[in-house]
Amino acid sequence: MTRPELKLIEPLPPEPTGPPAEQCLSFRGGRPAELLITGAHVIDPNAGHDGVLDVLVRGGEIAEIGSGLKAPEGAETIDASGKHLFPGFVDPHVHLRTPGFEYKENLESGTRSAAAGGFTAIIAMANTNPPVDSPGAIQSLRMRAQEDAHIPVAFSATVTKGMKGKQLSEMAELAEAGAICFTDDGLPIVDAGLMRQALQYQRLSGRPLALHQEDPALTRGGVMHEGRVSAELGLAGYPPVSESTYIARDALLAEYEGGRIHVQHLSCIGSIEAVAAAKERGVQITTEVTPHHLTLTDEAIGDGTDANFKMNPPLRTEEDRQALIAALKSGVVDIIATDHAPHAAHEKEVPFELAAMGVTGLETSFPVVYTDLVKTGVLDLSLVIDRLTKGAALFELPTPTVAKGAPANFNLIDLDATWVVGEEGYASRSSNSCFAGRELSGRVLMTVAAGVVAFRARSFAMQEVGA
Ligand SMILES: [Zn+2]
Ligand SMILES: [Zn+2]
Repeated sequence: MTRPELKLIEPLPPEPTGPPAEQCLSFRGGRPAELLITGAHVIDPNAGHDGVLDVLVRGGEIAEIGSGLKAPEGAETIDASGKHLFPGFVDPHVHLRTPGFEYKENLESGTRSAAAGGFTAIIAMANTNPPVDSPGAIQSLRMRAQEDAHIPVAFSATVTKGMKGKQLSEMAELAEAGAICFTDDGLPIVDAGLMRQALQYQRLSGRPLALHQEDPALTRGGVMHEGRVSAELGLAGYPPVSESTYIARDALLAEYEGGRIHVQHLSCIGSIEAVAAAKERGVQITTEVTPHHLTLTDEAIGDGTDANFKMNPPLRTEEDRQALIAALKSGVVDIIATDHAPHAAHEKEVPFELAAMGVTGLETSFPVVYTDLVKTGVLDLSLVIDRLTKGAALFELPTPTVAKGAPANFNLIDLDATWVVGEEGYASRSSNSCFAGRELSGRVLMTVAAGVVAFRARSFAMQEVGA
């Protein structure tokens, strides 16, 4: 059956309203790195590297890549033999909890946590208190990030005023103030008419809409996936279709309006099918999956007493998990994003039904995926690196790359080093990790973000500094 053309798409306005996406990143900066890293196994699918190389960083830029490179005076030499060097990871879905919830996380701790996880750029969500829905709020966050952020961070703004789902925020003005994208993450946009309008402003601003998809009429009262496990535990569940129906709806609306949407945290087969069908039709739709949805199912909830397994969308079935892995491989799911959602102990150490939704993820993202999916032969390491870096491109940020002349955005990881999650504490202010106590392979030793050493593992102190 051939599908009739829905609507002629009008040409886009010549210039989007905001500054180039790259200028939406804020960062406290620091002394430009002078480093010679020798004998690292460099894997960068974009630059075409997969082999042992030396990398010389001068003035925060990659000055040379090759073998037998000599350290210039004043450069620190790092013997990285047996270690891996990857382009910096980019996470477009992080809750930094500022303003208003600083007891959970703040700009300093959240970006420190990101650096400790090998990330060199992140996007902060807007469901703060108050929500980020005014140009002034964006400007003030950007100024604070210039003081506090260990790595470059861009800020999203809400789609609707106060995240109330009634009235659009001033999207054009927010884009001009430097909002990287629009999202009411934490809540869906229930009113389809408002979504349609948001898509029109999306086209005007050039900034994508990032969507948390759930139909509240179907999720209401639920605390986990609806299925055998929820029945056994006697906990209220909500079905996967609560997510998929909204994705299908918004894909159709995006198609009709010629708008661009990014669907957050896919959790189930029906959602993958809705995204695949939309991509097939040429809809401008991209999507992400979290490390926990790739590696855990509702079985992990066990006896239902540990609320660190409570998040939205919930952990679903093994069939869903397998489908998410396949979709990440095929590209139907574009990227891995953490949905790092810190909560204080008092919000988690309560009965499962009452606990806050969400888990931390920045410090475990790569090690979890590496341990459970790469070491086991399910995913190629280079594919994982691609899916951890490509989040940049979806939001028009420069993709970190290990190439001569590029700003130094990379991490150094010991794939053979094992560690126990939480044993040495977390860089994040919160400890609500669903991987707490797990032994993982893959230890981030160092992160260089925007040309500055942003993180160094305690066991990986400065080795040798030239004169
Ligand atoms: Zn969400
Ligand atoms: Zn989120």
